[in-house]
Amino acid sequence: MQKKIEFSPPYFLEEDFEEVVKVLKSGWITTGPRVKEFETLLSHYTGAKATLCVSSATAAMQILLTVLGVGPGDEVITTVYTYTATASVIHHVGAKIVFADTSPGSFNISPEEIKQRLTPKTKAVIAVDYAGIPCDYDEILEVLNRPSFQYDFKKGSVQDLLGRPVLLSDASHSLGAQYKGIKMGAVADVTAFSFHAVKNLTTAEGGAIQIKENPRLSIEELISQCRLYSLHGQDKDAWMKEKGSYRYDIKLLGYKFNMTDIQAALGICQLKRYPAILEKRKALFAQYAGHLKHKKPFILPSYDPAVKTGSYHLFPLRLTGFNEVRRDALIEFMKSKDITINVHFIPLPMFTAYKQLGFDIQDFSNAYAMFENVVTLPVHLQLDLQDVDRICEELINGVK
Ligand SMILES: *Cc1c(COP(=O)(O)O)cnc(C)c1O
Repeated sequence: MQKKIEFSPPYFLEEDFEEVVKVLKSGWITTGPRVKEFETLLSHYTGAKATLCVSSATAAMQILLTVLGVGPGDEVITTVYTYTATASVIHHVGAKIVFADTSPGSFNISPEEIKQRLTPKTKAVIAVDYAGIPCDYDEILEVLNRPSFQYDFKKGSVQDLLGRPVLLSDASHSLGAQYKGIKMGAVADVTAFSFHAVKNLTTAEGGAIQIKENPRLSIEELISQCRLYSLHGQDKDAWMKEKGSYRYDIKLLGYKFNMTDIQAALGICQLKRYPAILEKRKALFAQYAGHLKHKKPFILPSYDPAVKTGSYHLFPLRLTGFNEVRRDALIEFMKSKDITINVHFIPLPMFTAYKQLGFDIQDFSNAYAMFENVVTLPVHLQLDLQDVDRICEELINGVK
């Protein structure tokens, strides 16, 4: 029988299981020394100034917006071409979601669209590195750094100190990706990573906040604010309480978004072999490209390798002349061949909840044009090059 090809199964090694069991046997299973170690390794890996591990990328973004003082009366600009988490967190902190379209022919947010949507109330922009390809960060910063533009910032706020809205990267797809030679985490002002089950590095559920070095900001203070919000505003975590006095203070009304040592153990193991993980994913990408490039109707993902290096998270393949109906038929055909392919993402204005907020997909024609003829192909560590050969062969049959 031929192998069933799944879209994104997790992949662990014996050493991962051993590390998890070690934590379970250690008597300390929630936030403790392994989380600290994972944070240190993550800072070291990306070059960010500070890292806080949390329970998800969603939690990371919600904490960041809160610490950045974003709330009612404020606006945050983000892309329609993302998962709902990127936008829902804006709503949850009480601010207004302002959607921007993607650049023509791109899955990433358009700097020009951001420019058109800036108002004095704009406090942050959330850019999403779709499929692990970094956004046009310099162009976005150029748009935000407008000396002639009158922003309405609270004195002493992070935005005031920067002289512009904060640039937050939703790097859920782009751990290890680089923009102009710098890894994500040290590119945007602040970054959120996801370690959800389907991402390049997974702790089942999990995420991280990273803050980039910036002489205008106290990074120490920002990350300790984030840490407070991640665990009920408690000035000592359970580990510190265990090691010291029972007394602690609640500094503010925070969330419950901390990571456990069990998750961190999984993260540490994968981060140590992450360069090899990226190499493997890159080889799968190259195999896809070898089969599909210069063949009709395929349009391969592309970016300027002098500026960006992706993390090979998803392989988005566009099909010239296809619409939703034909694309969906191709997905069914592949399923009949025991191959799962997917679509990332359904633009947010196509969902009920966003329609109810007044958004209309017709206002985002670039994003719709990207969505209607895209399929995402499996890229994961259980695949070998022969699997990619088979997937490509069936795709070529399928599009006929
Ligand atoms: C997966 C994903 C998220 C959410 O990550 P969680 O860790 O599940 O909160 C957010 N944004 C994008 C672009 C994602 O793909």
